[in-house]
Amino acid sequence: MIPPATTAVSPFVRLFGRYLREHGLPVTPQRQAVAEVVFSSTEHLSVDDIERKLREGGERIGKATIYRTLDLLVRSKLVAERDFNEGFKRYEHRLSRQPEHEHLICQRCGGVTEFKSEEIQAIQVHIAGRFGFRPTRHKLEIYGLCASCIAVGADLPSEGLTCPIETV
Ligand SMILES: [Zn+2]
Ligand SMILES: [Zn+2]
Repeated sequence: MIPPATTAVSPFVRLFGRYLREHGLPVTPQRQAVAEVVFSSTEHLSVDDIERKLREGGERIGKATIYRTLDLLVRSKLVAERDFNEGFKRYEHRLSRQPEHEHLICQRCGGVTEFKSEEIQAIQVHIAGRFGFRPTRHKLEIYGLCASCIAVGADLPSEGLTCPIETV
């Protein structure tokens, strides 16, 4: 009989524990704490966010352990790694939401909005079909300014040359 590791461990943390055991890796309270933070959030968390949330919960866990645990969470397929070109990765729980969702990323405040679109799903099938391609997954990220940033009059610097034909 395996005694329960801690009191209220979420089913996803238990699933992660199973993944670790199956791969001969130790199920440590630190790894469980990092997993719990990711699983209990619906946000797209950076390592800094995770470290802050752990500290707020009274846990002091080093960045190396957080990185290593996130790597294992991604390998277990329970957590998805996102790169929104901010210079660091973000992490989100894959099972708490629909697997196929798209992202709107605000380049001013860093806010990430999720949306789902049946049209995008249909276009994906259509385009892949045109090339005889069998799709497994896709990624759509729309960058720009969110409604709240536009409301306070924010603007983004020009990203460089525009099409010379348009500027004539
Ligand atoms: Zn914004
Ligand atoms: Zn997302």
